[in-house]
Amino acid sequence: MNRELVRAVRERAAERREYCCIPQFALPLPFQIDHVIAEQQGGKTVPGNLALACPHCNRYKGPNIAALDPESGQLVRLFHPRTDIWTDHFEFQRERTLGKTPVGRATVQVMAINASEPLRFRLELLRAGITL
Ligand SMILES: [Zn+2]
Repeated sequence: MNRELVRAVRERAAERREYCCIPQFALPLPFQIDHVIAEQQGGKTVPGNLALACPHCNRYKGPNIAALDPESGQLVRLFHPRTDIWTDHFEFQRERTLGKTPVGRATVQVMAINASEPLRFRLELLRAGITL
């Protein structure tokens, strides 16, 4: 991936995760460029298919593009940071991220957004008075 594209994706995300919203400065490891629709699924390396993800989100998302909504058991697509609006699908309840829609719930589940490590980082930010 060329350097200019990587920089553009990082700037667009304002150095924040586009999935779980913790800023880069809160994490020791650099964020990664995520193909929203994985290359294995035919996703292209173009701005409209790229997002900035923390290592945790990127690892858990992997090549997934859909998952089961834990509430209904229905197979639904995952959140798409380029075409979806974060607050339409998620909300914070203190350090936890709650899915408000089937897409939000499935994304929280498959990306383990409420796993202990991300929760710890979010709690530290809240304690420091930083609102996500
Ligand atoms: Zn993340």
